[in-house]
Amino acid sequence: MSTQDLPAPTSTPPASTRLEPGQLLFEAPRRGKPPRHLADLTLAERKDAVTKSGLPGFRAAQLSKHYFGRLVDDPAEWTDVPAAQRETLYAALFPRLMTSVREITCDSGTTRKTLWRMHDGALVESVLMRYPDRVTMCVSSQAGCGMNCPFCATGQAGLTRNLSTAEIVEQVVAGARELARGEVPGGPGRVANVVFMGMGEPLANYNAVIGAVRRLTDPVPDGLGLSQRHITVSTVGLVPAIEKLTAEQLNVTLAVSLHAPDDDLRDELVPVNTRWRVGEVLGAAWDYAHTTKRRVSIEYALIRDINDQVWRADLLGKRLRGKLAHVNLIPLNPTPGSKWTASRPEDEDAFVRTLEAYGVPVTVRDTRGREIDGACGQLAAVEA
Ligand code: SAH
Repeated sequence: MSTQDLPAPTSTPPASTRLEPGQLLFEAPRRGKPPRHLADLTLAERKDAVTKSGLPGFRAAQLSKHYFGRLVDDPAEWTDVPAAQRETLYAALFPRLMTSVREITCDSGTTRKTLWRMHDGALVESVLMRYPDRVTMCVSSQAGCGMNCPFCATGQAGLTRNLSTAEIVEQVVAGARELARGEVPGGPGRVANVVFMGMGEPLANYNAVIGAVRRLTDPVPDGLGLSQRHITVSTVGLVPAIEKLTAEQLNVTLAVSLHAPDDDLRDELVPVNTRWRVGEVLGAAWDYAHTTKRRVSIEYALIRDINDQVWRADLLGKRLRGKLAHVNLIPLNPTPGSKWTASRPEDEDAFVRTLEAYGVPVTVRDTRGREIDGACGQLAAVEA
């Protein structure tokens, strides 16, 4: 990345933005590419950026330790950096990427959804879910989504833009900070899992998402030090991108949003199916499973009388039996005005039993966050 990527300084900051120390030098442009942030860069690139701003390269490692190790991005707390250098470093590597517009909680505060406004006004959501034994964060990879799935709130609004690597990483760091500071009921804690199941199609923003996976999993202080196996990338099934991911030698969990075992119905529920058919998507998923030795998660939103018939469970069982797969059934969370709703309990049970008869592991996802519109995109849809 070159210095040309730095945002152009502007003389009059927009009135709506709260000014942070570094923004006096580098006010983020209101539209267009997000400004470069420390979390966009590898350690070598951070050193380069620091040297280019006229300061010694070893400051990069110190800043990395503050950001990824201590979760601190306030220059006042960089006590090992001379005060005279702090503003330069802050301006070069810590533009304000996003501001929390609203945070809503449920489950006694252990499920927290944040609506973020990005530098250009784009809206994005992330969700923190604390369970007795772990914390999972659900992050967005795009503002909006271009995949147009008719049951999904984000799909209705279309794609605004891709997020940068740092904009994705910041969602996790923000949650990690809340946990470390004991702001989430249950005492201080850490993020264990990250799922790319917020807004957007992660494999349609491939490079930024892979960059984020590396930042999240690089050991502290280069990155956040999470385990690759605890990261889940969920896709509608962009076959060439799944193949690329297979070649990446990452051990992340792949989730495929199938929602129907037959092309006729999947063409309707996941429109990109007209480009890559069920057979091709599953073929790419099995290659991923064989290469990584990791079980692929098959996501299936159960929609009453649409995709929840026993004959469809039977077809799904036939396609998945003997494969390194696990089915995650998601009771449909109806979007406002939707003609569709969740399956009846007896149909859900029959669906589960049919799959189990084929020896396919299956779980029904818990419906955490339902009261706060946990289904992707619903909060942003309300705000917009
Ligand atoms: N674009 C990616 C990730 C985004 S959503 C993908 O499609 O996989 C994460 C999961 O939530 C997907 O399986 C998606 O199909 C599902 N989903 C979206 N809207 C939903 C709703 N209203 N009810 C239940 N599941 C939903």
